[in-house]
Amino acid sequence: MNRRTLLKLAAGSPALSPWAQAQVARATRGMPPPKIRDIKAISTAPGKIPLAVVKVVTDQDGLYGWGCASFTLRSQVVVAAVEKYLKPLLVGKPADRIDDIWQATYNSSYWRNGPVLNNAISGVDQALWDIKGRQAGMPVYQLLGGKCREAVACYSHASGGEIQEAIDHARRIIANGFRYVRVQVGVPGMEGYGGAGRGSLAAKPLHASPVYEPAYYIRRTLKLFEECREQLGDEIELLHDVHERVSPNQAVQFAKDLERFKLFFMEDALAPEDISYFRQIRRECATPIAMGELFNSPHEWTPLITERLIDYMRMHVSQMGGVTPARKVAAMGEIYNVKTAWHGPGDVSPIGHAANVTLDLACHNFGIQEYFAFDQTTREVFQGTLVAKDGYLYANETPGWGIEVDEKAAAKLFREELKPDGMPYYGFPVIRRLDGTVIKP
Ligand code: MG
Repeated sequence: MNRRTLLKLAAGSPALSPWAQAQVARATRGMPPPKIRDIKAISTAPGKIPLAVVKVVTDQDGLYGWGCASFTLRSQVVVAAVEKYLKPLLVGKPADRIDDIWQATYNSSYWRNGPVLNNAISGVDQALWDIKGRQAGMPVYQLLGGKCREAVACYSHASGGEIQEAIDHARRIIANGFRYVRVQVGVPGMEGYGGAGRGSLAAKPLHASPVYEPAYYIRRTLKLFEECREQLGDEIELLHDVHERVSPNQAVQFAKDLERFKLFFMEDALAPEDISYFRQIRRECATPIAMGELFNSPHEWTPLITERLIDYMRMHVSQMGGVTPARKVAAMGEIYNVKTAWHGPGDVSPIGHAANVTLDLACHNFGIQEYFAFDQTTREVFQGTLVAKDGYLYANETPGWGIEVDEKAAAKLFREELKPDGMPYYGFPVIRRLDGTVIKP
């Protein structure tokens, strides 16, 4: 088998045998470093959620990689950032200098640490890790030092409009082998996060927008967890996402009130703008705290980790700029005994999920992984999409992320989301309090 054929095999076949992987690694070892020949951002919509993924193509036959650049609510701005700014900057550069390229792109905009540019950088960064894995004939977790554990424990989402509905949903998840469940319940008549609302409101809103009142939600959620412990017992690990929807003082009180239910963690109790209030929560109670999916900047995560104000860092890996910064921040977390719980819902692409699991396996201070079950269509478009077994995720053992993307089918997923009159608006609905005040999403 000649070198060209081997390289094509390495890049194109997720089912490469260990022998063939070794041949590929041997064949590529003496070659000059690959150079970046092309960078493409592909708009897609796995599970009907708009996302962008990035393909970096090298000048070596068949050697390319995929990265996650998933800022779902503004994906087309990320596409423009990749194509108009990163591509001209990086074409012709050596593809094997991942950290160097990360630093160059991060600094090239001068104004930095925003979600659009970070996601664009992540698309390239993760693609370069994929390329390095394919060159080495190894899954990326091997390049990060190898496994710290056999598999990645994950949690799944249970929700319901009514408390019993949410608990029944949790039971089904537990029956599928999960030991960790996030539970959310709707509030009658309100646009609750993670659980449908239903029924009529006791108080009448002064407008026609979806309504949300934090105090109603807090009382309802405390009842939910009372029922959860009663019906599901103490062994199951329960998680909850506040989604930054309460005031700082309510967050402190809520964390105290939840303490007796011994949650695995309470997530996003505060908005990123209010993170100094974590000091108050820490002083008042021992409810484990997770935070970070909205973070873009070291100015946000660094104080929370170094002051030990959170227990779990929950950043969206593409939102923080990719695997390169994520592994460094994870290592910082290990020093302070803050664990990882990378953001992993449907608005992370299957490539991003593979990157999460890579970090989960290779970082000692792994805490938990959020899981999303992609539909059959997505699994066909993103071959190698990870699927949990008995509550655990396993990395692909093929080189790189072990994911191959059917580019045409990926783009078709996105086109099918377009309405006849063009791109639909895609964003969180505007939610208001009873009096009409806009609240955080
Ligand atoms: Mg969340």
